[in-house]
Amino acid sequence: MTTIRLLDWDRRTARRGALDGVLLLGTADPYVYHLPSCVLAMGRKADLTAFASEPQARAAGLKPCKRCNPHRLHAERGDGLELFHRLSERLETEPASVPSPTALAEAVGVTDDVLAVVLGDHAHATAGEWLERKRVAFAARQLLDLGATARDASHAAGFPGIKPFERAFGLLMGMTPDDYRHLGTQPGFSIRLPADYRKDAVLAYQGRDVEGLAERSDASRVWKALDTPDGPAIVDIRFEGRLANVSVTSPRRLGIASFAILHRDVLKVLGLRNDIRAFEAAHPDLVSARRGLRVPLVPRAFDALCWAIIGQQINLSFAGSLRRELILLAGERVGDMIVHPTPEAVARIDPDDLTRRRFSRAKARYLIETARAIAEGKLAVEALAEDSAVDAERRLTALHGIGTWTARYVMMRIGFADAAPVGDSGLATALERMYGLAERPDAIATARLMTPYAPWRSLASLHLWASL
Ligand SMILES: [Zn+2]
Repeated sequence: MTTIRLLDWDRRTARRGALDGVLLLGTADPYVYHLPSCVLAMGRKADLTAFASEPQARAAGLKPCKRCNPHRLHAERGDGLELFHRLSERLETEPASVPSPTALAEAVGVTDDVLAVVLGDHAHATAGEWLERKRVAFAARQLLDLGATARDASHAAGFPGIKPFERAFGLLMGMTPDDYRHLGTQPGFSIRLPADYRKDAVLAYQGRDVEGLAERSDASRVWKALDTPDGPAIVDIRFEGRLANVSVTSPRRLGIASFAILHRDVLKVLGLRNDIRAFEAAHPDLVSARRGLRVPLVPRAFDALCWAIIGQQINLSFAGSLRRELILLAGERVGDMIVHPTPEAVARIDPDDLTRRRFSRAKARYLIETARAIAEGKLAVEALAEDSAVDAERRLTALHGIGTWTARYVMMRIGFADAAPVGDSGLATALERMYGLAERPDAIATARLMTPYAPWRSLASLHLWASL
């Protein structure tokens, strides 16, 4: 696999077929992408859009050309998935062996450009961001599982020194390595918030259903019921200045592994997974008065998936009441709250119990079939966020009743940075207003209009929703 700068390609080389599999060319009418050698892609260079990868062309809403069938060649080459898995394995086992993005590219025998495309497509991150995230995750395991000192964890994870380690750890984990090492010795922990943090989006999202059973919020607090390996728990998050102070209550004693999961869950609730500075610098007009807005994430992918299935084709308040019914029917009680049901619990529901509670027959079937597929081990839904985005979309849309909108919505809510839920009516309305369009954009037009926001289409979607 090779890649070249997108503007530098040469017509004669393209015609010879030497660029097939290297880049793709998009035409506006019809709105499709081609192999560079395709006779239908011979227009003026200025009329063609070059894409470094098939996921990029598809994200822009283009369909494969029926004449040159670019998807066949790219499917044969695997679109970098195998390479992505090799990179992930390297970082999970010996992160210190690759001190820089260039060293990582060399270790797997590709150029820096190829590395950037593969990590952009599969991790929705730059090589630098991804390396840092993987190193911090590795160090976190050393601290908690092995009781390593901060200095040893830093060294093992491949940080050039303790200072850069502490800075990266603090940014991604919201606490110092030493505090993280002591997770579980107290019934709570504190997360340091970025200077530009705004809690309003998180409070509004967690309080979107005023009668919420699994989560609720007031003016400065969020409560969320969550399951852990040791049983159900409630995290109570209080915003106090630059801190989010978290207390954990549970009828059972929670071990360190459970605390590590709850810590990660709280970071997701707070929307602290992805850095927002590059996006804000690139799109000041869209950001305008909403500086500091982050995508509130859903701690459990299965919860996000159920919510997306329930929300298809109905309004928000009806969706909220159906979700409550599902939680009442199959969730586990903890204190005065109820944890969102597990896939196993939803898989056991009789479809009639859902239709009796105003679920449509189709919705009941999609929910239960999806839960069964997960319970039977056919889809590792909770592992999706740390795996390939391309693969996640493919696996989700392979499920019955799950289309691009549902898959992208879930991807956005579990932490992928570049997933636009095309087909979303709110997103279409926001774009229609922003561009003063004569009609509402359909899914393809929405994808096209969202292209300038790559590689941050998740956060751009949230800003567009917030603009309504
Ligand atoms: Zn073609």
